[in-house]
Amino acid sequence: MQISRIETFLAPPRWMFVRVETDAGVVGWGEPVVEGRAEPVRAAVDVLAEYLVGADPMRIEDHWQVMTKGGFYRGGPVLSSAVAGLDQALWDIKGKHYGVPVHQLLGGPVRDRVRAYAWVGGDDPAEVRDAVTAQLEAGFTAVKMNGCGRMTPVASPAEVRAVLRRAETARQVLGDAHDFGLDFHGRVSPANARRLLPQLAEYAPMFVEEPVLPDHAHVLPDLVNASSVPLALGERLYSRREFLAPLHAGVAVLQPDVSHAGGISELRRIAALAETYGAQLAPHCPLGPIALAACLQLAFTTPNFLIQEQSIGIHYNRGAELLDYVVDPEPFRFDRGALLRTERPGLGIDVDEAAVRAADRTGHAWRNPVWRHQDGSFAEW
Ligand SMILES: [Mg+2]
Repeated sequence: MQISRIETFLAPPRWMFVRVETDAGVVGWGEPVVEGRAEPVRAAVDVLAEYLVGADPMRIEDHWQVMTKGGFYRGGPVLSSAVAGLDQALWDIKGKHYGVPVHQLLGGPVRDRVRAYAWVGGDDPAEVRDAVTAQLEAGFTAVKMNGCGRMTPVASPAEVRAVLRRAETARQVLGDAHDFGLDFHGRVSPANARRLLPQLAEYAPMFVEEPVLPDHAHVLPDLVNASSVPLALGERLYSRREFLAPLHAGVAVLQPDVSHAGGISELRRIAALAETYGAQLAPHCPLGPIALAACLQLAFTTPNFLIQEQSIGIHYNRGAELLDYVVDPEPFRFDRGALLRTERPGLGIDVDEAAVRAADRTGHAWRNPVWRHQDGSFAEW
């Protein structure tokens, strides 16, 4: 079997899909994208395709090594995301070739249900109350929300109290049997994080995510020791090596993105690395159906898996939704806040190729907003 053709498709709201075709008629799908930087990833996929077309798709690990290391210059979100999407497609092909789901190729299932959380938006506590209530009524047992909007580097008491009120409201609605994650989104300075974390502890969030920017990773040991709140991060890290320092610091939950950090092959290794530190895996995935399917295959076979992010109904999705690109929504049907294991081959989904080709004719040019503080200076989004 040889890889015969590789195509990419820009799919609204902000995604990109890759289709890898073989001369045996088996087709694999992947999702190589960096949100807001889809076009450079597409160009990187085109360069990697020069190497892959004509190659044996079954040699996933060898291709991963060459794609990741063979260009001399390596790393970073663009290359790692291009490799990630192609890696997903190669696993999809291998599973379909053998007629088994990818999780069977990775050692078989360790669980039958994958707990997922839903996003809630809303800026004031009343909105948080309504949004959390709605997700509980939809059957979810966990939610996640942003801890704050833009925040001044040394926050006012009002800004600090607004974060605490959101957490307090979420805990009131959820009771003690359900969970919420609080995403600081890299918007919070190290000083603000040190002030907030001890005060958040009484509301027992499941985790605080990206408590500081990846640029400020050197303060992670202090932040781990600042409170009992588990810290989570990883959506802006791109290889197992980049997770080593956070693990050493005592970060509790790793959130690599299967479309940014080298795909299924590298996430599996990041999960094993986390297991040696007693840390859990909660893959980042505000993306489309192929990335979520790849996450699920990992979740079914990863012992130290905690919970799965997913984008259905997320505030970013304008004009298109995850279910628009699959023929059969069944693999993404929630059962009491969890997704169920199936024995469908490959990544376990049927991509709606006609819908994907139609979407690419429109494409998208999604960019994240640029925020500014009240004085006009740049603010982290
Ligand atoms: Mg996040």
